[in-house]
Amino acid sequence: MRADLFAAPSAPRLPFAGRDLDFPVHRIYCVGRNFADHAREMGASIDRGTPVIFMKPADAVHLDPRVPYPSGTVDLHHEVEMVVAIGRDAVEPLRPGEGLAHVCGYGVGLDLTRRDLQAVAKDKRLPWDVAKGFDASAPVAPLRHVDDAGHPAPEALLWLEVNGVRRQSARLADMVFSVDEVLVHLSGLFRLRAGDLVFMGTPAGVAALQRGDRFRATLEGIAAFDGEIT
Ligand code: MN
Repeated sequence: MRADLFAAPSAPRLPFAGRDLDFPVHRIYCVGRNFADHAREMGASIDRGTPVIFMKPADAVHLDPRVPYPSGTVDLHHEVEMVVAIGRDAVEPLRPGEGLAHVCGYGVGLDLTRRDLQAVAKDKRLPWDVAKGFDASAPVAPLRHVDDAGHPAPEALLWLEVNGVRRQSARLADMVFSVDEVLVHLSGLFRLRAGDLVFMGTPAGVAALQRGDRFRATLEGIAAFDGEIT
């Protein structure tokens, strides 16, 4: 009989607000350049044909309001984002219009970014992993189940305050690719699974966070996350 060398780690979990129910995280997909004003501020253009996709490890999710300032950077940036939780496997690639039926909840989170390392990677045409996929790089508020809060309205506001000052704000309708479009695209490249999270991209206004900064990330009608960089 074979044995494991060490105890296999259990899946990272996110709670659903107001329920005795957790969401075991399988993968974290992230969409880049999904708000035109943010793409412009990063000096990029929008490709309406293909969403930019990158990933973070599942155990980058972070629930604790105290968020550690990561090593290896002097330019940690906030990106407030809607988070989509997938509750059902997609056996086949999804067709347009089939995406939302696979969504079991929504949340709000930060796609924390080592912007200095990302700039080096972009310059050298290297991968973004060290800029995006570090420990605790995905703080997420408790999720809201679709049966409790429904799907967020297009006019719902996504916004971030740092030390009481609003830095980022946009309507979900300003996204270049909708949730359905992103899920259809993802399902053609990966086997979309229950437990997958999708960070849907950030509006303009990304900027540096310092130790001691207090932040409040909000997706109107869905969730809020209050935290501090430590
Ligand atoms: Mn992002």
